Amino acid sequence: MTITNDCTRILSKLGVDAALYTGGTLHSFSPVTGERVAELPQHPTAEVQAAVARAADAFRIWRDVPAPRRGELVRLLGEELRAAKDDLGRLVSIEAGKSPSEGAGEVQEMIDICDFAVGLSRQLYGLTVATERPGHRMMETWHPLGVVGVISAFNFPVAVWSWNAALALVCGNPVVWKPSEKTPLTALASQAILDRALARFGDAPQGLSQVVIGGRETGEALVDDPRVALVSATGSTRMGRQVGPRVAVRFGRTILELGGNNAGIVCPSADLDMTLRAIAFGAMGTAGQRCTTMRRLFVHDSIYDALVPRLIKAYASVSIGNPLTTQALVGPLVDRAAFEAMQAALEQAQAAGGTVHGGARVAGAGPDAAYYVRPALVEMPSQTGPVLEETFAPILYVMRYTDLPAVIQEHNAVAAGLSSSIFTTDLRDAETFLSASGSDCGIANVNIGTSGAEIGGAFGGEKETGGGRESGSDAWKAYMRRATNTINYSRALPLAQGVVFDI
Ligand code: NAD
Repeated sequence: MTITNDCTRILSKLGVDAALYTGGTLHSFSPVTGERVAELPQHPTAEVQAAVARAADAFRIWRDVPAPRRGELVRLLGEELRAAKDDLGRLVSIEAGKSPSEGAGEVQEMIDICDFAVGLSRQLYGLTVATERPGHRMMETWHPLGVVGVISAFNFPVAVWSWNAALALVCGNPVVWKPSEKTPLTALASQAILDRALARFGDAPQGLSQVVIGGRETGEALVDDPRVALVSATGSTRMGRQVGPRVAVRFGRTILELGGNNAGIVCPSADLDMTLRAIAFGAMGTAGQRCTTMRRLFVHDSIYDALVPRLIKAYASVSIGNPLTTQALVGPLVDRAAFEAMQAALEQAQAAGGTVHGGARVAGAGPDAAYYVRPALVEMPSQTGPVLEETFAPILYVMRYTDLPAVIQEHNAVAAGLSSSIFTTDLRDAETFLSASGSDCGIANVNIGTSGAEIGGAFGGEKETGGGRESGSDAWKAYMRRATNTINYSRALPLAQGVVFDI
């Protein structure tokens, strides 16, 4: 079966109308073979606005549905996702080039966030606050916010939507989703799966969850629409720099989940066998196309020669190939532009004194139109040039260090602030890294890699990563508005701060 046929089989099995992915102008390619798998009609601005109008109507109904009942819809979504896990996981592999295990893992993440959100639907707690006035009570109430616009990146084509949608729905908000133009099919499939849950749920309003297809302009229509109360945008820092100010101008809210330049520090006491495996997955997994991919590694001088030659060996031997037909650990880059950006970064690294191991295109791993590369490990004399930026490809820049406080400073001396790791069995080193003067990232780990977060924690990063938080912990608060309520149950009217105003 060709990839296109496989794609069509899965889409029709999941109930996606063929009119949504045939005869249109947006061409979707599989990075696995480079072949064109679908031609999708795009949504012009007027249709995006119509979708937002439907969502705004849905909001007026959904906000008054009790939160635990809203949670029931998300519980049904979790059930439908369990039933569709193999199909949707395979579609993720086809459209994003992920290994079967990572494709299935992404759907598992969707299921996990549904479970989390169902529990949350009974826990949208507000505080009761001590008041200075007698006979008064003060409290906080959390209310639904409004339409949530989700803009997502190609590399987590479905999980990012579910992080947002599961929380938004239990919080009482409709969702309009603009997926990456590189991965529209998995979005249509996810919407079809949610449609099944909606049919079982019964009385949810029309327009509660919608997908709009297209590129940047389609996203801009969501960004600029004042009825979209929250824009949750995941993608490059370049995109966030455009989206953030545009939403701010109309005083809308944003959750920005942008690029990372994640690093690990390997201390003298590290368990090197475990560290090696953690770095291998963190830096080479998903062909280096995770926002949390490890891109920089600082290795203590005393263990550099014990670790780095072993890493270079792992880079030279890791299996690379078609994720649908082989057991390869590393699949393709998303497209030719990603390959070219990788080669350009390697050239710059070499010019800056780096020694490059690997990085070449792997002949025979796939057809000419697909881009399979050997991950690159680059030994750098210092943190300079391309090391300071995110190149969305499997390149790991390795540097030596001698002093922990100095290397933490260097670790923090990049613009992004998403994820970070320290490898050590020394409590002092670990706690220093996690302290106020340690890693400045939104995620700081000990003895695990930079990637592979669980949904229970708040996910996101600082600085040019955008500051947004999604997923677990109290990230739900971004999807709700907070009201402070003061209730006077006395017969007097004492004013705060002792102010007197007798008439
Ligand atoms: P991208 O920035 O090219 O595109 C992301 C999305 O933004 C797409 O849907 C695109 O159509 C849309 N878009 C682009 N410009 C826009 C604009 N001006 N207005 C509205 N929408 C716009 O990113 P990509 O190549 O798809 O994904 C890779 C990037 O995403 C990497 O930088 C990666 O680190 C980042 N990423 C971050 C996270 C995170 O949680 N921090 C997660 C996944 C990916």
